[in-house]
Amino acid sequence: MKRIAVLTSGGDAPGMNAAIRAIVRIGIETGCEVIGIRNGYAGLIAGNFVSLGARDVSGIIQRGGTILGSARCPEFETEEGRKKALWMLQEDNIEGLIVIGGNGSQAGAYHLSREGFPVIGVASTIDNDLYGSDITIGAYTALNIALEAIDRLKTTDSSLQRAFVVEVMGRSHGFLALMSGIAGGAEAIIIPEAETDPEILADELHAAYKRGKPHAIVVVAEGARYNGEELARYFRENRERLGFEVRVTVLGHVQRGGEPGAFDRLLATRLGAAATEVLISGKHGILVGLIKGEIATTPLAEVAAKKKGLDLNLLDLAKSLAK
Ligand code: ADP
Repeated sequence: MKRIAVLTSGGDAPGMNAAIRAIVRIGIETGCEVIGIRNGYAGLIAGNFVSLGARDVSGIIQRGGTILGSARCPEFETEEGRKKALWMLQEDNIEGLIVIGGNGSQAGAYHLSREGFPVIGVASTIDNDLYGSDITIGAYTALNIALEAIDRLKTTDSSLQRAFVVEVMGRSHGFLALMSGIAGGAEAIIIPEAETDPEILADELHAAYKRGKPHAIVVVAEGARYNGEELARYFRENRERLGFEVRVTVLGHVQRGGEPGAFDRLLATRLGAAATEVLISGKHGILVGLIKGEIATTPLAEVAAKKKGLDLNLLDLAKSLAK
Protein backbone atom coordinates (compact mmCIF):
# COMPACT_ATOMS: atom_id res chain seq x y z
CA MET A 1 0.00 0.00 0.00
CA LYS A 2 1.47 3.34 -1.08
CA ARG A 3 -1.31 5.87 -0.56
CA ILE A 4 -3.67 5.85 2.43
CA ALA A 5 -6.20 8.37 3.74
CA VAL A 6 -7.57 9.39 7.12
CA LEU A 7 -10.78 11.14 8.17
CA THR A 8 -12.46 12.13 11.45
CA SER A 9 -16.24 11.81 11.59
CA GLY A 10 -19.27 12.41 13.81
CA GLY A 11 -18.88 14.05 17.22
CA ASP A 12 -15.32 15.32 17.65
CA ALA A 13 -13.34 14.06 20.63
CA PRO A 14 -10.18 15.33 22.38
CA GLY A 15 -7.33 13.12 21.18
CA MET A 16 -8.40 12.86 17.54
CA ASN A 17 -5.44 15.07 16.58
CA ALA A 18 -2.99 12.82 18.37
CA ALA A 19 -4.38 9.90 16.34
CA ILE A 20 -4.05 11.84 13.06
CA ARG A 21 -0.44 12.72 13.94
CA ALA A 22 0.44 9.08 14.65
CA ILE A 23 -1.22 7.90 11.41
CA VAL A 24 0.63 10.48 9.31
CA ARG A 25 4.04 9.85 10.85
CA ILE A 26 3.82 6.04 10.95
CA GLY A 27 2.37 6.05 7.44
CA ILE A 28 5.27 8.14 6.11
CA GLU A 29 7.82 6.04 8.00
CA THR A 30 6.38 2.93 6.35
CA GLY A 31 6.79 4.52 2.90
CA CYS A 32 3.20 5.67 2.34
CA GLU A 33 1.76 8.96 1.29
CA VAL A 34 -0.97 10.05 3.71
CA ILE A 35 -4.00 12.02 2.55
CA GLY A 36 -6.21 13.92 5.00
CA ILE A 37 -9.90 14.09 4.14
CA ARG A 38 -11.62 17.22 5.45
CA ASN A 39 -15.02 17.16 7.22
CA GLY A 40 -15.60 13.43 7.49
CA TYR A 41 -17.72 11.58 4.96
CA ALA A 42 -19.01 14.89 3.54
CA GLY A 43 -15.43 15.74 2.49
CA LEU A 44 -14.95 12.23 1.14
CA ILE A 45 -17.96 12.61 -1.16
CA ALA A 46 -16.86 16.11 -2.19
CA GLY A 47 -13.22 15.09 -2.79
CA ASN A 48 -11.97 17.53 -0.16
CA PHE A 49 -8.50 15.97 0.14
CA VAL A 50 -5.17 17.34 1.31
CA SER A 51 -1.75 15.69 1.35
CA LEU A 52 -0.30 15.55 4.88
CA GLY A 53 3.43 15.66 5.57
CA ALA A 54 5.17 15.10 8.90
CA ARG A 55 5.37 18.88 9.50
CA ASP A 56 1.64 19.36 8.85
CA VAL A 57 0.89 17.49 12.06
CA SER A 58 3.41 19.40 14.20
CA GLY A 59 2.08 20.99 17.37
CA ILE A 60 -1.32 19.30 17.28
CA ILE A 61 -0.92 16.51 19.84
CA GLN A 62 -2.10 18.81 22.65
CA ARG A 63 -4.97 20.39 20.73
CA GLY A 64 -8.63 19.41 21.25
CA GLY A 65 -11.02 18.94 18.33
CA THR A 66 -9.69 17.76 14.96
CA ILE A 67 -7.52 19.62 12.43
CA LEU A 68 -9.34 17.78 9.64
CA GLY A 69 -12.75 18.94 10.78
CA SER A 70 -15.66 16.62 11.36
CA ALA A 71 -19.20 16.56 10.02
CA ARG A 72 -22.40 14.60 9.97
CA CYS A 73 -23.29 13.47 6.46
CA PRO A 74 -26.72 11.89 5.83
CA GLU A 75 -25.79 11.39 2.14
CA PHE A 76 -23.21 8.80 3.15
CA GLU A 77 -26.00 6.68 4.65
CA THR A 78 -27.35 6.14 1.12
CA GLU A 79 -25.88 3.72 -1.42
CA GLU A 80 -25.67 6.54 -3.93
CA GLY A 81 -23.59 8.65 -1.51
CA ARG A 82 -21.22 5.79 -0.79
CA LYS A 83 -20.80 5.12 -4.52
CA LYS A 84 -19.65 8.72 -4.96
CA ALA A 85 -17.26 8.27 -2.03
CA LEU A 86 -15.78 5.10 -3.52
CA TRP A 87 -15.35 6.80 -6.85
CA MET A 88 -13.50 9.71 -5.21
CA LEU A 89 -11.14 7.31 -3.42
CA GLN A 90 -10.38 5.40 -6.62
CA GLU A 91 -9.99 8.59 -8.64
CA ASP A 92 -7.32 9.78 -6.19
CA ASN A 93 -5.56 6.38 -6.15
CA ILE A 94 -6.19 5.94 -2.44
CA GLU A 95 -5.72 2.30 -1.48
CA GLY A 96 -6.87 2.27 2.14
CA LEU A 97 -8.81 4.47 4.60
CA ILE A 98 -8.70 5.01 8.36
CA VAL A 99 -11.92 6.30 9.98
CA ILE A 100 -11.56 7.90 13.41
CA GLY A 101 -14.96 8.15 15.10
CA GLY A 102 -17.78 6.63 17.10
CA ASN A 103 -20.77 4.39 16.47
CA GLY A 104 -22.25 6.12 13.42
CA SER A 105 -18.85 6.64 11.81
CA GLN A 106 -17.90 2.97 12.27
CA ALA A 107 -21.27 1.87 10.86
CA GLY A 108 -20.33 3.94 7.80
CA ALA A 109 -16.85 2.37 7.75
CA TYR A 110 -18.45 -1.08 7.84
CA HIS A 111 -20.62 -0.27 4.81
CA LEU A 112 -17.63 1.00 2.85
CA SER A 113 -15.65 -2.09 3.75
CA ARG A 114 -18.55 -4.37 2.69
CA GLU A 115 -18.54 -2.61 -0.64
CA GLY A 116 -14.97 -3.80 -1.08
CA PHE A 117 -12.79 -0.89 0.07
CA PRO A 118 -10.00 -1.51 2.65
CA VAL A 119 -11.05 0.38 5.80
CA ILE A 120 -9.80 0.39 9.39
CA GLY A 121 -11.71 2.07 12.23
CA VAL A 122 -10.15 3.86 15.22
CA ALA A 123 -12.38 3.92 18.34
CA SER A 124 -13.07 7.54 19.24
CA THR A 125 -16.08 9.01 21.04
CA ILE A 126 -16.43 10.87 24.32
CA ASP A 127 -19.52 8.75 25.12
CA ASN A 128 -17.46 5.53 25.25
CA ASP A 129 -20.42 3.67 23.77
CA LEU A 130 -18.58 1.80 21.01
CA TYR A 131 -18.36 -2.00 21.01
CA GLY A 132 -14.80 -3.23 20.41
CA SER A 133 -12.90 -0.92 22.77
CA ASP A 134 -13.15 -0.87 26.56
CA ILE A 135 -12.31 2.80 26.42
CA THR A 136 -12.46 5.17 23.45
CA ILE A 137 -10.41 8.26 22.55
CA GLY A 138 -11.79 11.36 24.29
CA ALA A 139 -13.84 9.69 27.01
CA TYR A 140 -11.39 10.29 29.88
CA THR A 141 -10.83 13.94 28.98
CA ALA A 142 -14.60 14.51 28.84
CA LEU A 143 -14.91 12.68 32.15
CA ASN A 144 -12.36 14.99 33.76
CA ILE A 145 -14.22 18.06 32.48
CA ALA A 146 -17.49 16.78 34.00
CA LEU A 147 -15.66 16.05 37.25
CA GLU A 148 -14.17 19.52 37.42
CA ALA A 149 -17.68 21.00 37.04
CA ILE A 150 -19.02 18.78 39.83
CA ASP A 151 -16.14 19.70 42.13
CA ARG A 152 -16.70 23.40 41.51
CA LEU A 153 -20.40 23.16 42.24
CA LYS A 154 -19.61 21.46 45.54
CA THR A 155 -17.30 24.23 46.66
CA THR A 156 -19.93 26.93 46.01
CA ASP A 157 -20.09 28.62 49.37
CA SER A 158 -23.66 29.01 50.54
CA SER A 159 -25.65 28.87 53.74
CA LEU A 160 -28.47 27.29 51.72
CA GLN A 161 -28.56 23.55 51.33
CA ARG A 162 -28.62 22.97 47.57
CA ALA A 163 -29.20 20.08 45.23
CA PHE A 164 -27.28 20.40 41.98
CA VAL A 165 -28.60 18.51 39.00
CA VAL A 166 -25.69 18.12 36.55
CA GLU A 167 -26.51 16.87 33.05
CA VAL A 168 -23.63 15.24 31.20
CA MET A 169 -23.47 13.81 27.67
CA GLY A 170 -24.62 10.29 26.81
CA ARG A 171 -27.55 9.81 24.44
CA SER A 172 -27.90 6.09 24.91
CA HIS A 173 -25.03 5.18 27.20
CA GLY A 174 -24.49 6.17 30.83
CA PHE A 175 -20.69 5.86 30.96
CA LEU A 176 -19.91 9.55 31.52
CA ALA A 177 -22.70 9.99 34.08
CA LEU A 178 -21.83 6.83 35.99
CA MET A 179 -18.08 7.43 36.12
CA SER A 180 -18.25 11.17 36.86
CA GLY A 181 -20.94 10.46 39.47
CA ILE A 182 -18.77 7.92 41.27
CA ALA A 183 -15.56 9.95 41.00
CA GLY A 184 -17.40 13.14 42.01
CA GLY A 185 -19.12 11.51 45.01
CA ALA A 186 -22.65 12.12 43.69
CA GLU A 187 -25.72 11.40 45.81
CA ALA A 188 -27.58 10.02 42.78
CA ILE A 189 -26.75 8.93 39.22
CA ILE A 190 -29.41 8.74 36.51
CA ILE A 191 -28.55 6.77 33.34
CA PRO A 192 -30.48 5.38 30.36
CA GLU A 193 -29.63 1.80 31.37
CA ALA A 194 -31.50 1.95 34.71
CA GLU A 195 -35.07 2.84 35.70
CA THR A 196 -35.62 6.11 37.57
CA ASP A 197 -38.55 6.96 39.80
CA PRO A 198 -38.42 10.71 40.57
CA GLU A 199 -40.54 10.18 43.70
CA ILE A 200 -38.11 7.67 45.19
CA LEU A 201 -35.22 9.91 44.17
CA ALA A 202 -36.83 12.90 45.90
CA ASP A 203 -37.27 10.81 49.06
CA GLU A 204 -33.62 9.76 48.97
CA LEU A 205 -32.53 13.36 48.56
CA HIS A 206 -34.80 14.42 51.39
CA ALA A 207 -33.15 11.80 53.61
CA ALA A 208 -29.75 13.27 52.66
CA TYR A 209 -31.12 16.75 53.52
CA LYS A 210 -32.25 15.50 56.92
CA ARG A 211 -28.82 14.03 57.55
CA GLY A 212 -27.54 17.58 57.15
CA LYS A 213 -25.72 17.26 53.84
CA PRO A 214 -24.73 20.75 52.67
CA HIS A 215 -25.36 19.77 49.06
CA ALA A 216 -26.55 16.88 46.96
CA ILE A 217 -25.21 16.15 43.49
CA VAL A 218 -27.46 14.38 41.00
CA VAL A 219 -25.62 13.43 37.79
CA VAL A 220 -27.93 12.77 34.85
CA ALA A 221 -27.07 11.43 31.39
CA GLU A 222 -28.73 13.52 28.65
CA GLY A 223 -30.44 10.42 27.23
CA ALA A 224 -31.89 9.18 30.54
CA ARG A 225 -35.69 8.90 30.81
CA TYR A 226 -35.73 12.31 32.56
CA ASN A 227 -33.08 14.80 31.47
CA GLY A 228 -31.56 17.43 33.76
CA GLU A 229 -34.20 20.13 33.18
CA GLU A 230 -37.08 17.68 33.64
CA LEU A 231 -35.71 16.34 36.89
CA ALA A 232 -35.02 19.84 38.21
CA ARG A 233 -38.59 20.87 37.33
CA TYR A 234 -39.98 17.90 39.22
CA PHE A 235 -37.80 18.69 42.24
CA ARG A 236 -38.86 22.35 42.24
CA GLU A 237 -42.52 21.40 42.08
CA ASN A 238 -41.92 19.09 45.05
CA ARG A 239 -39.68 21.39 47.05
CA GLU A 240 -41.28 20.32 50.38
CA ARG A 241 -40.59 16.70 49.68
CA LEU A 242 -36.97 17.49 48.79
CA GLY A 243 -35.81 20.11 51.29
CA PHE A 244 -32.94 21.29 49.11
CA GLU A 245 -33.01 24.35 46.89
CA VAL A 246 -32.49 23.10 43.31
CA ARG A 247 -30.01 24.26 40.66
CA VAL A 248 -29.44 22.70 37.27
CA THR A 249 -26.28 22.75 35.12
CA VAL A 250 -26.26 21.32 31.60
CA LEU A 251 -22.63 20.80 30.57
CA GLY A 252 -23.36 20.18 26.88
CA HIS A 253 -20.55 20.82 24.42
CA VAL A 254 -18.20 22.11 27.13
CA GLN A 255 -17.33 18.43 27.60
CA ARG A 256 -15.94 18.14 24.08
CA GLY A 257 -13.80 21.24 24.22
CA GLY A 258 -10.89 20.23 26.38
CA GLU A 259 -7.28 19.67 25.55
CA PRO A 260 -6.72 15.92 25.60
CA GLY A 261 -5.27 14.60 28.86
CA ALA A 262 -2.31 12.22 29.08
CA PHE A 263 -4.48 9.11 28.85
CA ASP A 264 -6.22 10.20 25.65
CA ARG A 265 -3.00 11.36 23.97
CA LEU A 266 -1.38 8.01 24.67
CA LEU A 267 -4.45 5.99 23.68
CA ALA A 268 -4.91 7.96 20.45
CA THR A 269 -1.22 7.66 19.58
CA ARG A 270 -1.21 3.89 20.16
CA LEU A 271 -4.49 3.27 18.30
CA GLY A 272 -3.52 5.55 15.39
CA ALA A 273 -0.12 3.86 15.00
CA ALA A 274 -1.60 0.35 15.25
CA ALA A 275 -4.37 1.16 12.74
CA THR A 276 -1.78 2.34 10.21
CA GLU A 277 0.40 -0.73 10.66
CA VAL A 278 -2.61 -3.06 10.39
CA LEU A 279 -3.89 -1.34 7.23
CA ILE A 280 -0.50 -1.35 5.52
CA SER A 281 0.02 -5.02 6.44
CA GLY A 282 -3.04 -5.79 4.29
CA LYS A 283 -5.73 -6.44 6.94
CA HIS A 284 -8.94 -4.45 6.89
CA GLY A 285 -12.64 -4.40 7.79
CA ILE A 286 -11.73 -4.10 11.47
CA LEU A 287 -11.82 -1.64 14.35
CA VAL A 288 -8.68 -0.98 16.38
CA GLY A 289 -9.41 -0.48 20.07
CA LEU A 290 -8.15 -1.23 23.56
CA ILE A 291 -9.38 -4.41 25.29
CA LYS A 292 -8.09 -5.36 28.76
CA GLY A 293 -5.27 -2.87 28.36
CA GLU A 294 -4.01 -4.31 25.06
CA ILE A 295 -4.44 -3.09 21.49
CA ALA A 296 -7.07 -5.36 19.95
CA THR A 297 -8.94 -5.67 16.66
CA THR A 298 -12.64 -6.47 16.20
CA PRO A 299 -14.43 -7.02 12.86
CA LEU A 300 -16.42 -3.92 11.87
CA ALA A 301 -19.40 -6.25 11.24
CA GLU A 302 -19.37 -7.15 14.94
CA VAL A 303 -18.87 -3.53 15.99
CA ALA A 304 -21.89 -2.46 13.90
CA ALA A 305 -24.08 -5.26 15.25
CA LYS A 306 -23.27 -5.30 18.97
CA LYS A 307 -24.01 -2.95 21.82
CA LYS A 308 -21.50 -2.12 24.49
CA GLY A 309 -22.51 -2.96 28.05
CA LEU A 310 -22.03 -0.98 31.25
CA ASP A 311 -21.13 -2.52 34.60
CA LEU A 312 -24.28 -1.77 36.59
CA ASN A 313 -22.66 -3.11 39.78
CA LEU A 314 -20.97 0.28 39.85
CA LEU A 315 -24.38 1.94 40.19
CA ASP A 316 -25.00 -0.12 43.35
CA LEU A 317 -21.56 0.84 44.63
CA ALA A 318 -22.35 4.52 44.07
CA LYS A 319 -25.62 4.11 45.99
CA SER A 320 -23.86 2.44 48.92
CA LEU A 321 -21.35 5.28 49.09
CA ALA A 322 -23.92 8.10 49.03
CA LYS A 323 -24.45 8.02 52.81
P1 ADP B 1 -20.53 9.23 15.77
O1 ADP B 1 -19.57 8.56 14.86
O2 ADP B 1 -19.87 10.21 16.70
O3 ADP B 1 -21.43 8.23 16.47
P2 ADP B 1 -22.80 9.99 14.03
O4 ADP B 1 -23.71 8.95 14.60
O5 ADP B 1 -23.34 11.35 13.84
O6 ADP B 1 -21.46 10.18 14.88
O7 ADP B 1 -22.28 9.45 12.61
C1 ADP B 1 -21.37 10.19 11.84
C2 ADP B 1 -21.60 9.95 10.37
O8 ADP B 1 -21.42 8.57 10.04
C3 ADP B 1 -23.02 10.24 9.86
O9 ADP B 1 -23.25 11.61 9.62
C4 ADP B 1 -23.06 9.43 8.57
O10 ADP B 1 -22.38 10.10 7.54
C5 ADP B 1 -22.25 8.20 8.94
N1 ADP B 1 -23.15 7.10 9.35
C6 ADP B 1 -23.84 6.98 10.51
N2 ADP B 1 -24.59 5.85 10.53
C7 ADP B 1 -24.40 5.25 9.32
C8 ADP B 1 -24.90 4.08 8.69
N3 ADP B 1 -25.74 3.27 9.31
N4 ADP B 1 -24.47 3.79 7.44
C9 ADP B 1 -23.60 4.60 6.79
N5 ADP B 1 -23.09 5.73 7.33
C10 ADP B 1 -23.46 6.06 8.57
